[in-house]
Amino acid sequence: MQFNTYTMAGAHIAAWLVNHPAVDAAALAAELHRREVHGAPPTAAEAAALRPWAARLREVFEATAVADKAQLTDALLVAADCRPRLVSHGGGKPFHFHYAPVETGLAARVRALTAAGLGHVVDGGAGARLRACDRTGCGVAFIDTSRNGRRRFCSVRCANQVNVATHRLRRRVAQPPREVPPPCEVRPPLEVPTR
Ligand SMILES: [Zn+2]
Ligand SMILES: [Zn+2]
Repeated sequence: MQFNTYTMAGAHIAAWLVNHPAVDAAALAAELHRREVHGAPPTAAEAAALRPWAARLREVFEATAVADKAQLTDALLVAADCRPRLVSHGGGKPFHFHYAPVETGLAARVRALTAAGLGHVVDGGAGARLRACDRTGCGVAFIDTSRNGRRRFCSVRCANQVNVATHRLRRRVAQPPREVPPPCEVRPPLEVPTR
């Protein structure tokens, strides 16, 4: 599966939204621009309208079974009212999919685009690559684009933290701590009877 195509933009934006749940308009505008999504920059209200959607997208990344990821994504396609159309912006520019009409407003378009993006990943047999970081307490969503598809962590930093912790635990199990002798008792000085 090719992970850098325009079709994949929706999946990348989905992961980005999950990782920026309190998204603001400027950051969202930058991400959409980076992924070559056309249209006017989002307003603060449009960015805020995507916050509950980010929570739903997270469920897909966090689901363990591929079948669950597929069902959740399918429900997102329905909820987003995803209707693919082939659109050219004129002047011989290439045709490409729009998943919701530009007139529906930016939040609705991003919902449709992200649902479709995740749908394409599942359809391409790569649903298991929609992941959340394995380090307890991290939860960053990512698309595993590695060759073998076995990436467990969002970053080298998380991988290192878990590896160091696992290594320490193994060492502790291999060499149980020596028994520490109890601290010396402090005895009161002997009272020497005086005559
Ligand atoms: Zn377009
Ligand atoms: Zn992580």
